[in-house]
Amino acid sequence: MLIIFKKGYTEQQLNHAIERVRAAKCDPHVIHGIYKVTINVIGDDTQLDPEDFKKLEGVEDVISVSKPFPLVAREFKKEDTIVQVRNVTFGPDSFIVMAGPCAVESEEQTIRIAKAVQKAGANVLRGGAFKPRSSPYAFQGLGNEGLKILAAARKETGLPIITEALDIRDLDAICEFTDIIQIGTRNMSNFPLLKEIGKTRTPVMLKRGMSATIDEWLMAAEYILRGGNTNVMLCERGIRSFDSKYTRNVVDLSAIPVIKNLSHLPIVIDPSHGTGRKDAIEPMTLASLAAGANSVMIDVHDDAENALCDGAQALKPHDFEKIMACLHSLAPALGKTIPGAKAAIRNTV
Ligand code: PEP
Ligand code: MN
Repeated sequence: MLIIFKKGYTEQQLNHAIERVRAAKCDPHVIHGIYKVTINVIGDDTQLDPEDFKKLEGVEDVISVSKPFPLVAREFKKEDTIVQVRNVTFGPDSFIVMAGPCAVESEEQTIRIAKAVQKAGANVLRGGAFKPRSSPYAFQGLGNEGLKILAAARKETGLPIITEALDIRDLDAICEFTDIIQIGTRNMSNFPLLKEIGKTRTPVMLKRGMSATIDEWLMAAEYILRGGNTNVMLCERGIRSFDSKYTRNVVDLSAIPVIKNLSHLPIVIDPSHGTGRKDAIEPMTLASLAAGANSVMIDVHDDAENALCDGAQALKPHDFEKIMACLHSLAPALGKTIPGAKAAIRNTV
């Protein structure tokens, strides 16, 4: 059960409700969210009557949620969550395109690609400074130096930045230099990291674990919302299956309607890590838009042959421009807008 307080509630009213919850041997977890203060009642709340709580001074509403991820659940919040990242709005009416290299390799490379994806109409620049590599001998990313390069690319282009966090110790720097914290597939179940991110108010994109069920993914998101950070987006990046001969993973596009039904959080698709193949990026991107996703994230590199990470799946800027042109043609028919440089794209096709 969730007890939601009105804007002008008093501490006394909140404490009174807390006492009532404790008296029923339940644990009141108070969440100071971005907009509202809520008590999440943990434990067997069958003895508590929601109608009684609704009558309490200061209480706006009481919601019973059947899911194991109450704050993430659509039952808790009917309207789609809007995540604002600088001038970019992730929400029901827009389709946001994030693009850039898998890894930040140098300032020159990052700014060059940032300008290329911006010219093509991307809204957010992606780039990993901390890389979670399967092999400890593979390029691990430039670390803090990479964050400064991303900040320089933002200054140069104005594009907001998304970058991955691997370690709690890097969170302060990531929040200082970039705009969206990416939690990669390998860290979806890193609960200490999720709890720490819940304490920030920085927008987060939580990737689905490569073998995670939808419920496990949504419970991972719950860890972040429970800390009060409601700026959370979910990212489907492909799940492991028995057949990995032709694609790196299986992009679960059916997760889009399922998530929209279960949750109010925006959903992003990553067709690059999802398929691992260049020729699958365009069809999966267009399908994501058609299926109701709020955003996509695409690997783009202008020297993919020599990329330090995931070059095989990275699109050349020219191919990315073609996808942007298709998206711009398709979006109006689906009632979505893609903010940004439409005119620049038209010139390229
Ligand atoms: C990435 O986006 O750079 C990445 C490592 O993705 P994933 O966590 O999906 O493998
Ligand atoms: Mn990658």
